[in-house]
Amino acid sequence: MNNKFPGKDISLEDIKTKFPLAAKKNSKHKSKFKISGVEFGGNSIPIFAGPNMVESKNLIFDVAKNVKSIGAHFLRGGAFKPLTFPYRNKKYTETREDGIKWLGLAKEKFDIPIITEVMEEKFLPLICEVADILQIGSRNMQNYPLITACAKTQKPLMIKRHYGASLRDWLGAAEYALVEGNKKIILCERGVSTPHTHRATSRFLLDLQVIPAAQEITHLPIVVDPSHATFWRPWIKAMSLAAIAGGAQGIMLEVHPDPRNSAVDPLQPIDYKEFNLLMKDMHKLAKILFNKKIL
Ligand code: PEP
Ligand code: MN
Repeated sequence: MNNKFPGKDISLEDIKTKFPLAAKKNSKHKSKFKISGVEFGGNSIPIFAGPNMVESKNLIFDVAKNVKSIGAHFLRGGAFKPLTFPYRNKKYTETREDGIKWLGLAKEKFDIPIITEVMEEKFLPLICEVADILQIGSRNMQNYPLITACAKTQKPLMIKRHYGASLRDWLGAAEYALVEGNKKIILCERGVSTPHTHRATSRFLLDLQVIPAAQEITHLPIVVDPSHATFWRPWIKAMSLAAIAGGAQGIMLEVHPDPRNSAVDPLQPIDYKEFNLLMKDMHKLAKILFNKKIL
């Protein structure tokens, strides 16, 4: 087939020539790998939980302790944050090197692996000392030099889909990581921009359809982040369960002890009690539908 009309959707030619490494070799091909003892693409569904931002040592210790005891597999949290506007008050200030240090201390004290975002290549050595998974944020999905540098460290990488990117673009970004010989690549859907989102304050719509669409083409595990997609706490439960039902191979959730006072995006995190109940529901659903486990 001749790829005369390369566009936003994927042609057979794309699968063969644009992302041969990200593409499945046959219909059953599925990547399965372990990160810090946690299996991806297999019979369990890993959960990443934590605050939007590593606000303080106290906060990240409290969250690490609680989400670990509830059953989260990874602690999430950004020390380097791509905030949409450049102005900061004290509450919104990134904790940067300090935040990375606190994540490292929390990891040691509470025995929970870490996923955190990389924004600039120059901080990679520092971040690699504590991160078990490097997160490429939506806004950097097409920052190919950053993806290449992260992939070269051979640390596992999670690439969040940009909210305006097609599946074709997303798999292209994954191919940039795979071509460096890094096999532990995870994709994360976090909502896309659409004309309507059902709430004036919600910027994104969770694209659940991309789970089976991606799984038709790629062997890489797909994680879903309902927190950034919905931007709205009351919808987190429904969308987390829908993502599990839709075949998500991992879930990322913002969890905060006092969501209303989260330094960033206070409308989206859930608290420990809500997280605990949701973990139980997700586990039940995964078990009934797929005989997979979360807890
Ligand atoms: C995040 O996960 O903290 C984050 C900033 O997400 P996104 O890149 O999807 O906006
Ligand atoms: Mn965020």
